[in-house]
Amino acid sequence: MRTYYCGELRSEHIGETVTLYGWVDRRRDHGGVIFLDVRDRSGIVQIVSDPERTPDSYHGAEALRSEYVVKITGRVTSRPEDSLNPKLPTGEVEIYADEIELLNAVRKQLPFQVATAENESVREDLRLKYRYLDLRRDRMSRNLQLRHQVVKAMRRHLEDVGGFIEVETPILTRSTPEGARDYLVPSRVNLGAWYALPQSPQLFKQLLMVSGVDRYYQIARCFRDEDLRADRQPEFTQLDMEMSFMSLEEVIELNEGLVSQIFQSVKGVELPRPFPRLTYAEAMDRYGSDKPDTRFGMELVDVSDLMKDSGFKVFSGAVAAGGIVKVLPIPGGNDAISNVRIKPGGDLFKEASEAGAKGLAYIRVRDNGEIDTIGAIKDNLTEAQKQELLDRTGAQSGHLLLFAAADATTVNKTLDRLRLFVGNELGSIDKDKMNLLWVTDFPMFEWNADEKRLEALHHPFTAPHPDDINDLKTARAQAYDLVLNGTEVGGGSLRIYQREVQEKVFEAIGLSTEEAYNKFGFLLDAFEYGTPPHGGIAYGLDRLVMLLAGEESIRDVIAFPKTQQAGCLLTNAPAGVDEKQLKELQVRSTYTPKS
Ligand code: ASP
Repeated sequence: MRTYYCGELRSEHIGETVTLYGWVDRRRDHGGVIFLDVRDRSGIVQIVSDPERTPDSYHGAEALRSEYVVKITGRVTSRPEDSLNPKLPTGEVEIYADEIELLNAVRKQLPFQVATAENESVREDLRLKYRYLDLRRDRMSRNLQLRHQVVKAMRRHLEDVGGFIEVETPILTRSTPEGARDYLVPSRVNLGAWYALPQSPQLFKQLLMVSGVDRYYQIARCFRDEDLRADRQPEFTQLDMEMSFMSLEEVIELNEGLVSQIFQSVKGVELPRPFPRLTYAEAMDRYGSDKPDTRFGMELVDVSDLMKDSGFKVFSGAVAAGGIVKVLPIPGGNDAISNVRIKPGGDLFKEASEAGAKGLAYIRVRDNGEIDTIGAIKDNLTEAQKQELLDRTGAQSGHLLLFAAADATTVNKTLDRLRLFVGNELGSIDKDKMNLLWVTDFPMFEWNADEKRLEALHHPFTAPHPDDINDLKTARAQAYDLVLNGTEVGGGSLRIYQREVQEKVFEAIGLSTEEAYNKFGFLLDAFEYGTPPHGGIAYGLDRLVMLLAGEESIRDVIAFPKTQQAGCLLTNAPAGVDEKQLKELQVRSTYTPKS
């Protein structure tokens, strides 16, 4: 029987005889004595096998190789002074092995070294193909355990403090209102009909409020068939919550308690409360983003009013056409960023043009405080205008001011992108900070230029701000996002629970009552039977754990993730199916592979 996990042993265990199980991380032969690092999910401990003291265990140890599975029985002893390892939690002790039992050997060539010290540069495709080996690695094992701790903290807080109950909702269901592309599953029993996998449990959780569940949560799997990026997966996990009879302030307060509890239990960090808040309008104005990274300054400054009469046509023209001019002030940017990088062909120019900007104007404040402009700006700003720019942006010697002039969306997108790019490059972002921020008062709708109609920014069940109810098209929503270091980790809203309001919202997004009934009729019907005021939120669990783990990809905090091509390299999903299965479903593929 196991007496301890390997990583648990400390000097207080010296003198005990212990039984351990694990994998051989590494084996070293030191002039007759064999040292083994044995690993399990808790960490590593050093085993010593000495031919003179325990010849049987020595012969056992000789046969061992990396990743063999072993059972070790031996005595915990203190390490000699010169082999203490302060970097290892078990570094004060070693186990003198009495018995070493080989439980299973490795029969194939390992695709990569699993050993803790040697595994940082393994190619990701290999790691994903042999994910079971990859998950043995220290870093991945820690990530899985951290994820578990986060979920445990969530459950504990929601159940014990919040009085929430967990309810499961269907995976085989109908389309939900998040608006991404659905994954579809054909029905064999109802030929010709299809289930959609849920993009979120949104409709069911609202129905549960009609049922009087009052406080619901679920660690819910969600599916969205979208193009993938580093922080997206076709299936992902949300902490999904919904509650009745709570005001927006109460929802926010409850969630601050929850998030603080998570940080407290997995990071030991006390978050200052209340969390800071920005309205959507402020966030866009100051950062050009609805999920600003507030770990550093470099806030944007709107100078449209100053530039509307300037002789520089790019600026005055943009304002005349209904656009704006904004500045990104970069302290130290004068030295750090050369002209070639800002002009066509340069990396900053490339960033800007990928955001839709046609070019970047700039002003340098030289070290002696002299202002230097280039190109057309140079002769077209008066001294007074230059001075006013410096005052407004707080620019001092050494600053670089980057300008974008276009429609508001393009300007914000451009400068947001450049702010993050430059902030990273100049090391302005304190990576140890954990900045949480609520963004509130989102607009209800945004304009979908392709379809030439308004669409719900959150989803069409989001309640409008009570003050804006008479002009829905420009109304603010009672919606809130939680942002952590520039990443959206949660989002939710108070919901509409009155039929008249719901109908107006459908009308605003051009959904006829008939279409609305067709899609969401069951929910609208349920709303006729006594619906409590309610609201909720969902957190992206994968993203949250990624940030807490200090990882850059959500794949590193998911046990069996998919690639950017939405495939699983371990199982080779998705894959073809038997003709017989398709026949049963009466589904035929019209796909012809490109030659
Ligand atoms: N269902 C929403 C989402 O997945 C979250 C919510 O409104 O609670 O974004």
